[in-house]
Amino acid sequence: MKIICVGRNYAEHARELQNEVPDKPVVFLKPPTALLKDNKPFYYPEWTRELHHEAEVVLRICRQGKYIQEQFAHKYFDQVTVGVDFTARDLQHALKAKGLPWEIAKAFDHSAVVGVFKPLTALPEWERNGIRFSLHKNGKPVQQGDTRDMLFSFGAIIAYCSQFFTLQAGDLIYTGTPPGVGPVEREDRLEGFLEDEKVFDFYIK
Ligand code: MG
Repeated sequence: MKIICVGRNYAEHARELQNEVPDKPVVFLKPPTALLKDNKPFYYPEWTRELHHEAEVVLRICRQGKYIQEQFAHKYFDQVTVGVDFTARDLQHALKAKGLPWEIAKAFDHSAVVGVFKPLTALPEWERNGIRFSLHKNGKPVQQGDTRDMLFSFGAIIAYCSQFFTLQAGDLIYTGTPPGVGPVEREDRLEGFLEDEKVFDFYIK
């Protein structure tokens, strides 16, 4: 499986990091070794001093597809959760300043947290009403999102990415983070909510 991530998909978040609002999805990958699930603790790596949380809606791909048209994209994912795209912001800024790829700042071990997946059928009106999600740090909300604020819809992301990468059952797509990204420290507790349901709850160690 592979993990596809979209950056800068919420205009307000792009602005908080002084990035341009993109005219195409900004895409990067994480390897399967990036996955962290089942509420396991995340161990703070020794090579960063600025580890940021980015709470995101995560889609699970359910069938293989290439050059998927946007209007058929909904047939290619059937489960959804909230995850964290952990980012070593200090490394990322240094790499971006040199125009170099971001991978070590984004795709490191356990940088892709996922919660419990829910069938999309549990959110029957999601296309009209959006999906609300949030991240709490130590019991306080730090990020709140609504997928209606995405610059690129799930369908647009799938259509764009599947031109380059064949999507396969089990692949995950991180669909971008709303504003409010910020640092985590050892002993912080992170809880993710899909609508009002808690889908993950883990500690930084
Ligand atoms: Mg992200």
